[in-house]
Amino acid sequence: MKAHDGMYIGGEWRGAAGTDTIAVVNPADEQVIAHVPAGVAEDVDAAVFAAHEAFPAWAATPPAERAAKIAALRDVLVARKDEIAETVTAELGAPLQFSQMVHAGVPILVAGSYAELAALYAFEEKVGNSTVYAEPVGVVGAITPWNYPLHQIVAKVAPALAAGCTVVLKPAEDTPLTAQLFAEAVHEAGIPAGVFNLVTGLGPVAGQALAEHPGVDLVSFTGSTAVGKQIGATAGAAVKRVALELGGKSANVILPSADLAKAVGVGIANVMGNSGQTCSAWTRMLVHTSQYDEAVELAAEAAAKYGDRIGPLVNAKQHARVRGYIEKGVAEGARLVAGGAEAPREQGYFVSPTVFADVTPEMTIAQEEIFGPVVSIIRYEDEGDALRIANGTVYGLAGAVWAADDAEAVAFARRMDTGQVDINGGRFNPLAPFGGYKQSGVGRELGAHGLSEYLQTKSLQF
Ligand code: NAD
Repeated sequence: MKAHDGMYIGGEWRGAAGTDTIAVVNPADEQVIAHVPAGVAEDVDAAVFAAHEAFPAWAATPPAERAAKIAALRDVLVARKDEIAETVTAELGAPLQFSQMVHAGVPILVAGSYAELAALYAFEEKVGNSTVYAEPVGVVGAITPWNYPLHQIVAKVAPALAAGCTVVLKPAEDTPLTAQLFAEAVHEAGIPAGVFNLVTGLGPVAGQALAEHPGVDLVSFTGSTAVGKQIGATAGAAVKRVALELGGKSANVILPSADLAKAVGVGIANVMGNSGQTCSAWTRMLVHTSQYDEAVELAAEAAAKYGDRIGPLVNAKQHARVRGYIEKGVAEGARLVAGGAEAPREQGYFVSPTVFADVTPEMTIAQEEIFGPVVSIIRYEDEGDALRIANGTVYGLAGAVWAADDAEAVAFARRMDTGQVDINGGRFNPLAPFGGYKQSGVGRELGAHGLSEYLQTKSLQF
């Protein structure tokens, strides 16, 4: 696989300050496919300096021109769609078709949405005798995870650029090739030097140096709640803006009036896509006691059908972690009705689509984020019980509600402590704000809400 041996800083590929590298592994066959440089504090310094130098001119570029550059970036992503999908498949392990549709398709959609929003957004408004300006925050430090490698990058970089900010990106160590490809696309799109910069490297080294850098005005982080808390504390101590997109343990609430087969089938597919490595996945299925046995049977069937179509987990550590959770589920008394901890293949970090029945709300597998293809089916007695269970974790990222009509589902969804809810299988909307309640995060991504994260307001009185 093609890899750069430097960092993309100030519009060019520059040699890394250190000599250490990170091996990129294909999780489907455990083979090393490339090496990228492991950045250190000096690389981060150089990248922040370049972003700082580029900021005044980019901030002063008319929004319509910034929009045109983002549109050009979207066009390059479209032209290189197949290459993007192949790269994500090689380093994340997602089946190629899923990579084409989701890992390449969604970032194109999101980049396109910001090309439009940058041109339309009201960066200035009149409030009585004042004019209020929305101005870019400055240099953004973006730290992204591996699970949707390009989407997570575009969901930060596109709105930051639309707002007039400049960016230093530190992508996840498991998926740096997709990030390098993105840097090439930025270059090809003619985005001015220094507006976007890339430093590959390890989280506790390059990531931490970026989060702590005094030249960074806003840190936008997506990843685990543990690291997010640390980054939030660092940013707080420096009185610096911070956006956190963290973990989840979302509930799929099936009310008794719902189409049970559809709700269960879509619910299982929602978790198995991307091998369960989706922060907003509905990993807890809540079913009324009168329909419980039927739901368990349907879920086990749906999971078994997935069988071989599921990709591997991203790395050996996640593989061991997810299998450990499955063992813990069994040990705590949950009933395995599909899959299990045993690795289905000799090579690659695969886990079978797994379904647990007889899960109680306080079990570890019902409380902690597993980040693998594991669904827990939980029984409820009445709506109040369902709501208590749905809201009974530290997380609040997403969820689903199914009922005979939308109004019934909406009434339940409005009482859920969570950032987004799909009503009767509602479709993904790239313009709808995405983000968490409670420990799932701070701030929103996507659409106009995502753009406003990168702006600060100034009012002039007349
Ligand atoms: P992670 O927190 O270990 O890593 C995320 C990023 O942070 C990586 O780039 C990593 O290198 C960097 N990092 C690690 N330690 C750091 C430190 N001390 N300082 C600065 N940066 C550091 O998470 P992960 O294992 O890559 O991703 C899985 C987690 O991310 C899951 O918990 C998942 O729910 C969450 N996630 C959330 C969202 C969301 O939008 N809410 C999206 C995707 C993933």
